[in-house]
Amino acid sequence: MEPKRNLGPNTLLQHFGEEDKVQGAVVPPIFQNSLFVFDTVEDLAGSMTADPTTAPHHYSRVGNPSLEIVEKKLAMMEGTECCKLLGSGQAALTVAIMSCVQQGDHVVCVDTAYGPVRSLLSDYLVRFGVSHTFVDGREVAEIESAIRPNTKVIYLETPSSLVFRFQDLEAVAKLARTKEIATICDNTYATPLFMKPHSHGIDIVCHSATKYLGGHSDLTAGAICTSKERMDRIIRQEINLLGNILHPFQAWLLHRGMRTLSVRLARHQETANAVARWLDGRNEADVVHYVGLDAFSQRSLYQKYMTGAGGLLSFEPVCQDPEEVRAFVNRLKIFQRGVSWGGFESLAIAMPIQPLGYSESRMLVRLFCGLEDALDLIADLEQAFR
Ligand SMILES: *Cc1c(COP(=O)(O)O)cnc(C)c1O
Repeated sequence: MEPKRNLGPNTLLQHFGEEDKVQGAVVPPIFQNSLFVFDTVEDLAGSMTADPTTAPHHYSRVGNPSLEIVEKKLAMMEGTECCKLLGSGQAALTVAIMSCVQQGDHVVCVDTAYGPVRSLLSDYLVRFGVSHTFVDGREVAEIESAIRPNTKVIYLETPSSLVFRFQDLEAVAKLARTKEIATICDNTYATPLFMKPHSHGIDIVCHSATKYLGGHSDLTAGAICTSKERMDRIIRQEINLLGNILHPFQAWLLHRGMRTLSVRLARHQETANAVARWLDGRNEADVVHYVGLDAFSQRSLYQKYMTGAGGLLSFEPVCQDPEEVRAFVNRLKIFQRGVSWGGFESLAIAMPIQPLGYSESRMLVRLFCGLEDALDLIADLEQAFR
């Protein structure tokens, strides 16, 4: 079978990039090797100096066939020329940002981006003379007014962590193009099945594959999807020099997880919809943040950019006493207390938040709806409220 790009996303997810079967094995084997050997020293030298996005593999710190299959699939799904897998989502985001900046440059970043990305800018890259401005991001005019002559990156995450704010990708990409600023978007929430930022003009799309793409809470991985021109530089520099590649076995696990991405996402979404609607009707929940609700504050951007909502939501309880909120989360029996999300299991965390636009700190409960039965999850929330 030779799948073509005009086939449906589920067919491509199963077969794209797997045309060259190894001895007919239906599941590609794990290439658990650190290096690749050549017939001649000239061939070896050639592989090291050739175009790194197409050269034969020579060393697994730079590339490996077990990763390449997944990279082909993700690039195809995101609609980018290239993709590379890294050891974590954070590695992918770090590589993306660092590939665009040097001393003296400035980054505009959404205030509700994933926490460690905020810290990378505010606690780490400042050491190398890279400055930043955090923006709310919901209004393009606000992003525009944060741009300085030395701005080199606009960093987006849509919908963003915890409160799920959207940015208008097309408008931001257009603005950035006119000023030769690179745009980076963290697409972990949506996955390429529900949103394709590159098709809206975003230059670099990143993922924490630890979440839905892996889908089983048994690996950490990241992906960076972009043009061949950018990827050539990224492979030679940030990937080769910082040494943050994914290991072959992790890539193999990731590939196995991705085969069921669309059935899992559909189920997560169905359950989260039921849970969000139920919460919205409860007196205990003040604001429910779920992009799939009809009353979601940025409904039109959701409908413009996403084709599904997934399993992640949050709410601000009416009772804002931090002790009470933590006690509520501690009483949950099926939702387990833990960071991350995107796996088979439902998870809950409680924390104070104060994004731009909030006049005070608010307690927030974030829920990830796993693959359990929706009725059991709702009953669990109900007993914890009682
Ligand atoms: C988890 C997460 C990351 C970081 O990914 P890791 O694989 O944990 O390094 C980045 N962005 C978002 C939105 C995430 O949820």
